[in-house]
Amino acid sequence: MDQTNHYVVVKGLSKHFGASRVFEDLSFAIEEGEFITLLGPSGCGKSTLLRCLAGLEAPDAGSIFVNGEDITHTKPQKRGIGMVFQSYALFPNMTAAENIAFGLKMQGLEKNEILHRVAQAIRTVELTNNEKKYPNQLSGGQRQRVALARALVVKPRILLLDEPLSALDARIRRNLRDEIRSIQREMQLTTIFVTHDQEEAMTMSDRIFLMNKGQFVQMGTPEEVYLSPATEFAARFIGSYNLLTKEQAAAIFDVGSEELYAVRPESVYVQEEGGIYPSTCSSPVQGTVVSHQLLGNVIRYRIEALGAELTVDVMNRSSSRLYAPQTSVKLLFNRAEIKPLAR
Ligand code: ADP
Ligand code: MG
Repeated sequence: MDQTNHYVVVKGLSKHFGASRVFEDLSFAIEEGEFITLLGPSGCGKSTLLRCLAGLEAPDAGSIFVNGEDITHTKPQKRGIGMVFQSYALFPNMTAAENIAFGLKMQGLEKNEILHRVAQAIRTVELTNNEKKYPNQLSGGQRQRVALARALVVKPRILLLDEPLSALDARIRRNLRDEIRSIQREMQLTTIFVTHDQEEAMTMSDRIFLMNKGQFVQMGTPEEVYLSPATEFAARFIGSYNLLTKEQAAAIFDVGSEELYAVRPESVYVQEEGGIYPSTCSSPVQGTVVSHQLLGNVIRYRIEALGAELTVDVMNRSSSRLYAPQTSVKLLFNRAEIKPLAR
């Protein structure tokens, strides 16, 4: 990978804590203005990777380049990187405005410039009228807005966000998620966002880097990762896929050499009289309804078929029948949507 062709380039990055390896030989590139999400289960190394990029941890090996410049050994405050953590990490004895101004004061900017930039950052994150409040007078969402403003006000080259929404309740989380994305787009700010929440990753990212046990499992757009999981881990982590063994898959189509196949809940149909289905569907497979769950516009069935319990999603139209547990049904599998998986 050539560090002059991409905005951020990481080459061969490794990190151990004592005898335990967090990751080894990680390499990737990010373009200017991209929104990248590191997605993976707790403990897979997301925060450690982010902290290495920020300079808060020293990697054991490898290099980090930003805009062609090697910053592997540069001090954190000289990297031009802004960071927001899950816990707010605000100074409790400073007002919102003072918290936001702190980094600019450290840089020795003149007072008027500081006032101007802080006011602008406060407007950007929509904290107007809360400037003089202390952290304990602000809600969780507002505190995270202060943390975001504090990271943005120094005009970072890269913004790193480590699960900034995890401690917030669902509605505020969605609001702030949309706002972070729109601020990021407007500023064309190169951003790496960490989460273990696949919905957050799907809705926010230009590209997702899916991680497990310190390795990248798959890197791609949300569509690519969702529609074509590279491995069993990806299929389980991202899309509620049904996993079929080779033997089970052989009952519905001509299998290849892989041992495992994945099919999404919406690529299996409950056959209805007069229904029209893709020409790539299998012949009908006998099944028995185990349970159903209404997810608003979708009815999610658990159906026993092929000796397994499968998840099948049916659009909840007014004409749709609701099949009770124990009902016998015929399932059609869209063979074009069945993905062979590497282990
Ligand atoms: P994630 O952010 O994906 O949940 P982390 O990067 O926090 O994962 O942690 C990855 C692994 O490194 C975990 O096993 C964790 O226990 C370990 N780890 C993280 N920080 C330290 C540290 N300062 N000292 C020792 N082990 C650590
Ligand atoms: Mg973490």
